[in-house]
Amino acid sequence: MTGQLKDKVALVTGASRGIGYQIAKGLAAEGAHVIALARTVGGLEELDDEIKSAGGSATLVPLDLTDMGGIDRLGGAINERWGRLDVLVANAGLLGVLAPIGHIEAKTFEKTMTVNVTATWRLIRSVDPLLRKAQAGRALVISSGAAHSAKAFWSLYAASKAATEAMVRSWANETQNLPLRVNSVNPGATRTAMRAQAMPGEDPKSLPTAREVAAKIVPLAFAGVTETGKLFDVRAEKFLDYRDPA
Ligand code: NDP
Repeated sequence: MTGQLKDKVALVTGASRGIGYQIAKGLAAEGAHVIALARTVGGLEELDDEIKSAGGSATLVPLDLTDMGGIDRLGGAINERWGRLDVLVANAGLLGVLAPIGHIEAKTFEKTMTVNVTATWRLIRSVDPLLRKAQAGRALVISSGAAHSAKAFWSLYAASKAATEAMVRSWANETQNLPLRVNSVNPGATRTAMRAQAMPGEDPKSLPTAREVAAKIVPLAFAGVTETGKLFDVRAEKFLDYRDPA
């Protein structure tokens, strides 16, 4: 570990398992104080134990991202306690359902859009003033290849990720003259509970682990990153440009 995030404060959502858990662990190993958010207290406590036994520090925030008031209060609470936020990793998300578009239930559609899109916007809005003030603010919003692939039955999840990526690109343009760097990240197929839900017949051992994927995402929070408004493709290990309209 390089200590690249010494004295930084980092917020990670969806930190109770999967990719978010490993990103939180990786940021802490680089010296950041990690604010770990999710609903499952057991998963957060396990993360806390692992971080502390490796000599790091974390604060646990058990919060359901459908609680919009809770998200709104988060930025102020972080400001009161630490006076700053250097890194945001908006990773929490859900698959919803893979189904023909005419078979998706309204409540599933709304819940997925609420967690994947509305909560991400509310979170960005809540911490944006802190990230703007940071010396080398870094925001990473976890997307998916589904945003661009238009696969049959993936419409709900794909629409939620495409919406989030569009929002993040605009946010990057709004903040491009600041030290803040804002990017989306496509982790690629990863051995987690969500992937198993999406592809139950797949051999999980054929996929990279969340730890391997997180190891490629953590350095995107370092001060040396100059890109903004781009999509980092973990599998390709590079930033991709969006094609802007002529
Ligand atoms: P998991 O299902 O393993 O983890 C999802 C995380 O999101 C959990 O920590 C969960 O915590 C949290 N979360 C879900 N709903 C809520 C909620 N209402 N409030 C608070 N937290 C919530 O998923 P992955 O690790 O696989 O996925 C992480 C990200 O990566 C997601 O954005 C996903 O779309 C994306 N991704 C994943 C891929 C894969 O192959 N795994 C591929 C491409 C993208 P809890 O349940 O405790 O609240």
